[in-house]
Amino acid sequence: MRFFSKGLFACAALLLLSAAVHAQNGRVLEPVVLQLKWKHQFQFAGYYAAAEKGYYREAGIAVDIREAQEGRDPVVSVLDGSADFGIGASELALHRGMGKPVVVLAVILQHSPLVLLTGSDVKMVQDIVGKRVMLLPQEAELYAYLQGQGVSRDRIIQVPHSFSSEDLVKGRVDGLSGYSTDEPFMLNQMRFAHNVFSPRSGGIDFYGDALFTSERALKKDARRVAAFRDASLRGWKYAMEHPEEIADLIIARYGKRHSREHLLFEAAEMRRLMQLQLIEIGHIHPGRWSAIAAVYAEFGMLPAQHDLDGFIFDSAAPRDLAWFYRGIAAALAAALLGGVVAVRQMTFNRRLRNQLDDIQALQAQLVRQALRDSLTGLYNRRYFDEALQRELALARRQNNYPVSLVMIDIDRFKVLNDNHGHQAGDAVLQALARYLTENSRASDIVCRWGGEEFVILMPHTPLEGALQRTEVWRESFSKMPVSFGGLLLNNTFSAGVAVWPVVGVSSTALLRAADDALYRAKSEGRNRVCPDAPAPEA
Ligand code: GH3
Ligand code: MG
Ligand code: MG
Repeated sequence: MRFFSKGLFACAALLLLSAAVHAQNGRVLEPVVLQLKWKHQFQFAGYYAAAEKGYYREAGIAVDIREAQEGRDPVVSVLDGSADFGIGASELALHRGMGKPVVVLAVILQHSPLVLLTGSDVKMVQDIVGKRVMLLPQEAELYAYLQGQGVSRDRIIQVPHSFSSEDLVKGRVDGLSGYSTDEPFMLNQMRFAHNVFSPRSGGIDFYGDALFTSERALKKDARRVAAFRDASLRGWKYAMEHPEEIADLIIARYGKRHSREHLLFEAAEMRRLMQLQLIEIGHIHPGRWSAIAAVYAEFGMLPAQHDLDGFIFDSAAPRDLAWFYRGIAAALAAALLGGVVAVRQMTFNRRLRNQLDDIQALQAQLVRQALRDSLTGLYNRRYFDEALQRELALARRQNNYPVSLVMIDIDRFKVLNDNHGHQAGDAVLQALARYLTENSRASDIVCRWGGEEFVILMPHTPLEGALQRTEVWRESFSKMPVSFGGLLLNNTFSAGVAVWPVVGVSSTALLRAADDALYRAKSEGRNRVCPDAPAPEA
């Protein structure tokens, strides 16, 4: 009996559903599933607005907006076909670079909301060294930012993410990743003094939320994909123009998880990240996606040679023609009314927007280039000087833990250049740079000092440890011929190692001591590693 009534109930529900789907003036609405990446909140306002205002219905679509399911990535749902569209962020470039057929349709947040939140005792981001931080594995933008500030992964104690800012308030952790649209509101409410560190301040400028689909969905019906995207963007425009109305809608229809005040806080922060006054909602700049993918590659999350072809939805593809014609009619009316001025304004805005994108992409590139050596890709001397000051300041604040400095100089490099040419010399420099990068720890700071000289700063490393590691490098490099133009070039290097604060308290004393040690290694016959003072007897 119970089974029967359940069956009856299911039939009725199905009937109701199909009636709803066929609702639009007898026109069949196509059901689609939009998989959110989190729970219902203002972050997805545009989609609720598009549903509420009937934009999806006008596009012939009946949408089912689904909250994130525990531990399930929207990319998985979209790729296995259980959802047609999903919300992702910059990690979409990571998936595409690894060959997954995701296609990005529109960028909603022009800047990422992802930040590191800490208590007020963490005044500089470097103060987080040695402390407990909750980060997620895919948050490459935070890792890149922290690394750029001298805080590599192995210098923090990473603990599993609980998604609860209460852990920070209660002192169970010292920092956590979160959204600038969300966590600061809750921390303010709990009257907890905190600091917010944004990767943007370190030149890492990722995209935030973006709407995506799969290549399969696109192949199946490109017109429907375009219609869904356009209706969603209309919804976004409406939501950002009427945030109060949509906040009320979210509370009434999607749950009271967040207060109205919280939703409006989110809306205000989103407005900042969307850059509404400058950038049209949905706008995609391919150069920024490439820059994001390059950061993933730098962190070994993507191969250096990766392919983003086909990743960005081609807006020239066929659209929902009803909308297209309506758009043309509207544009014509606008042109008639506003005359040439409106058209000029549009061109000007577009140009401005493109220039702004280019400037942003260029800025990020310049920040990176200014700190890198172009031949080897290692950090340059400028970066090293800054890093040295920073590392010693950190060590001073934490009971003067040892910081070792290794200075490496390739032996008889001039002879190599003279015998085989400058390009052969370059190949050897690149090979050594690669070897050092691959065989150093994440906390080591490996730099090209200039010419054929390299310096490696090793925080938390006493002299003996640094000597041992350098000795391993020396031996391996001497047995690692570099192939160039059909030749195998054998090389060696000499190295000097010194440790702070044994040599004195200044950075100059450390550099001088390492240089003296290197000089001794050269004068004692090269291809050897010397400490700044004779090693203690074993
Ligand atoms: P030593 O064993 O005493 O170090 O001898 P060396 O020949 O290595 O001596 P030195 O340090 O005087 O020579 C460095 C040479 O490196 C001189 C310079 O022409 C060359 N060099 C500097 N920068 C580059 C570069 O970017 N590429 C190449 N191929 N050579 C470079
Ligand atoms: Mg030299
Ligand atoms: Mg040399």
